[in-house]
Amino acid sequence: MDVSDYIATIPREITVFNLPYKILFVDQINYPDNDAHPLGNTCCSSLEITIATKSVSGRTLGVEIIRGTLIHELVHAMLGESCFLEENNKECFVEILSKLIIEIIPQIKELY
Ligand SMILES: [Zn+2]
Repeated sequence: MDVSDYIATIPREITVFNLPYKILFVDQINYPDNDAHPLGNTCCSSLEITIATKSVSGRTLGVEIIRGTLIHELVHAMLGESCFLEENNKECFVEILSKLIIEIIPQIKELY
């Protein structure tokens, strides 16, 4: 599937613990105070998840990377809105949960 077609299928609002998180897509995410260019960012105060669609070099990212980033950021939102704030700062923990969700959801989607 073409990346822009895939992005068009993603809801622009996803509720996490009944809180409406806006899903925003940008070319790149730049942190002004350092050189970091993360692929995603979650802000629990503004209820916004921002997903980059291009790499630092300007190439359009693939569907799997964008999907993985969205799930990763949703895990951040889940943990951030719960009492697991310490775990939310552990990127490896967030990434493991993200990869498990990506593995499991396609196997059980018929349940919905
Ligand atoms: Zn993260």
